[in-house]
Amino acid sequence: MEDIQSVIFIQEILDAALSKRVTDVHFHLEEERLRVLFRMGGQIKPHLTLLTQGKSISRRIRALAKMDISDARLPQDGSFVWDDGFRSCQIRVATIPTIQGESMVLRLMDHLSEEESLKDLGMSEEDEHRLKGALIRSVGLCLVAGPTNAGKTTTLYSMMRFLSSMGRDVVSVENPVEQRLQECRQVEVRERIGLTFDSTLRSLLRQDADVLMIGEVRDESTAKVAMRATLSGRLVITTTHARDLVGALARLEDLGFPRSLAADVLIAIVFQQFDNKPCPHCSGAGCAECHLSGIDIIRQPKFEVKILSDDDRVTIASAEDWGQLRQKFRQSPAGLTK
Ligand SMILES: [Zn+2]
Repeated sequence: MEDIQSVIFIQEILDAALSKRVTDVHFHLEEERLRVLFRMGGQIKPHLTLLTQGKSISRRIRALAKMDISDARLPQDGSFVWDDGFRSCQIRVATIPTIQGESMVLRLMDHLSEEESLKDLGMSEEDEHRLKGALIRSVGLCLVAGPTNAGKTTTLYSMMRFLSSMGRDVVSVENPVEQRLQECRQVEVRERIGLTFDSTLRSLLRQDADVLMIGEVRDESTAKVAMRATLSGRLVITTTHARDLVGALARLEDLGFPRSLAADVLIAIVFQQFDNKPCPHCSGAGCAECHLSGIDIIRQPKFEVKILSDDDRVTIASAEDWGQLRQKFRQSPAGLTK
């Protein structure tokens, strides 16, 4: 009886998540109490709280994701395909024990896979044009920077589709693959069997590819391979966490990518983040459409596209510190450098 109820709950939650274009569903357990939260348009919002059934729902999801049902004391991950009759969706599950109880995150993948051009994502036509021009001409590094959950990977996918439509051979290493692209070769990292980010990247260098997509430059070894790939005449497109354009350069340097070299190989930096617009249904007062947040949940990121000119390269390499560079970039805003 309990199990049937949990099956129904899970069905209702996932149906709601899919119809609202939710990217992540969080399950926070505290004994039997279960809080369900949705991430939409980069923001996380409570969906509902159940006072019973928490453990049974968690067990059911673990079973679906082919995880160890008996052991909730260690982090685990898994995945399953959810089919609601007229669409199917790949769902990645990751669970960790917190001191409050289990925390489980379901990432919904397939509804992201609609083909979106950079303009559909919210980039201005002019920026899209400049960026595509730079991508198609160049070898080097194109960095997409921004805070977590700003849609950076979606932007990379759009670039991958564009580049492969122009006849470029694109390979990627991702953790995880969020969209399957028919035209590209995508490798998903699987640490458990030794297919690590690092080893995959190094093998990919030996593959004959024009464009290397790296899901994220996240440590020194990834940065080093990215550097090597750009120096060997490839275009590398990747993402990094940063709070502005200059922050992206600072992040590269932190990861062992010398500033002078970054100035040399960088062709473009795309910075993107969501800005909070008031909900159009209630003008910010809070309503059912926006889950009482007052914020428009159908949001597009705001883009800044910096195509690096020779002047920019000199500026980057010669700036005394990041503060000075920030100031200089502010004097010639991203959109103005052709
Ligand atoms: Zn509203």
